[in-house]
Amino acid sequence: MSDSATLFSDLSGLTPAMLSNLTQLGFTEATEIQSASLPVSLAGKDLLAQAKTGSGKTLAFGIPVLQKLNPRFYGVQGLILCPTRELATQVAEELRRLARFQPNLKISVICGGVSIGPQIASLERGAHIIVGTPGRIKDHLRKQTLTLDEVNTLVLDEADRMLEMGFADDIRHIAGHTRKDRQTLLFSATYPDNIQSLSHDLMHNPEFIQVESVHNTAHIHQYLIPFSGNSRDQTLLQAMQHFAVEQAVVFCNTKQSVNDVTRVLRDAGYLALGLHGDLQQKERDQIYIRFKQGSAHCLIATDVAARGLDVDDLQAVINYELPRDPEVYVHRIGRSGRAGKEGLAISLISDKEDYRRSAVEEQTGQALNLVAPQEMTGRHTPARPPYVSLCFSEGRKNKLRPGDIVGAITADGRIPGTAIGNITVLDFVAYAAVSREFANEALRLLEKSRIKGRQIRVRRV
Ligand code: ADP
Ligand code: MG
Repeated sequence: MSDSATLFSDLSGLTPAMLSNLTQLGFTEATEIQSASLPVSLAGKDLLAQAKTGSGKTLAFGIPVLQKLNPRFYGVQGLILCPTRELATQVAEELRRLARFQPNLKISVICGGVSIGPQIASLERGAHIIVGTPGRIKDHLRKQTLTLDEVNTLVLDEADRMLEMGFADDIRHIAGHTRKDRQTLLFSATYPDNIQSLSHDLMHNPEFIQVESVHNTAHIHQYLIPFSGNSRDQTLLQAMQHFAVEQAVVFCNTKQSVNDVTRVLRDAGYLALGLHGDLQQKERDQIYIRFKQGSAHCLIATDVAARGLDVDDLQAVINYELPRDPEVYVHRIGRSGRAGKEGLAISLISDKEDYRRSAVEEQTGQALNLVAPQEMTGRHTPARPPYVSLCFSEGRKNKLRPGDIVGAITADGRIPGTAIGNITVLDFVAYAAVSREFANEALRLLEKSRIKGRQIRVRRV
């Protein structure tokens, strides 16, 4: 990040507990939207913030929501509305991490696409924060299985997309069930007219904060590799070897290319996972998690499928094809080089597509580094991915927690805790990353062990 970066410790209004937790999570510098909005939101004011994807909006609203909470009161105090189930799940995950220092906090995800019965049961047990989609929350209000009278912070995340999806009336209806004196925080990537009317109806003298240069691409090394004829696949492999790519998201413009490229990379010895919109939710979750856990080299995806994809420390982004829209280019490559790190972006371009290059250069204000295929002499072969993902047949709804998994794997003292990487617990399934060298041993151990007194099915995915 730039020299003028703001440290969280420079911002007033953060509690010492929150600050130390942020530090433990590795967050020291605030992003631009965070440093601009936190003084306003922590002062209790309404806020209308415009910032692009990847700018760190979740913390920007998560911090004020959590700091205002009374953990001893078991009623919904914070309500966060998101456009999709995936986004709601991600927001809830980030909030749970952020809330680690407050052990008895319950954060529930309430979205459509799953049966409503178990949600009702879960809501009956109480929640401090609800993250959900407007449609399903409205259903619960109609059935009177959800009370929002004590909600003192309402967050609209990705408000423009919720409006696009036709949720305007639902949002107004839901807001009408919350406290009149609540604080309302609205986040949006764009600022269409209907946002203005929504904010007029729901907010009191909101402060407007706009962050322009979110996608600064100056710290990303960007290479453009021209090829002729139909040597795109060959050029891709050559580039990956030359730039020693071990972990990358490869973007394609079509589903068909996703399938083809996945095959090409597998044939070349990469552990490659293809992600496209036709897969079922469960399969998508699993692919996404395996990649995030470091148990695959490459994720191959279309822009739609990769929406919301959020992997820290991504080594490289590869554009198998340059996107038609140069803004999409900036969005894609911004997934590498996050939080002050250097990034790597490699784009393949055929001689017929040269016009796309100028569009991209105009958008980023930077010239791309041209590398001719014959200059790519590096012959790096990737090591096997550092982790293996183990899949557990139970999840949060079975009361399985990350600590249970860590406990079971380290039980006999032969596998050190440091061999365990990311653990992701979903509602009915959980995934744990285990260092490749310990994966088989962990599996053998888990086959014999009981977690929470039960035998849980575990398999390698
Ligand atoms: P947005 O909602 O604006 O698209 P997110 O809130 O999802 O962005 O954040 C994008 C990524 O940046 C996440 O992986 C998040 O953990 C990370 N991040 C957010 N704030 C910071 C920070 N201050 N320092 C480092 N990483 C951060
Ligand atoms: Mg977001």
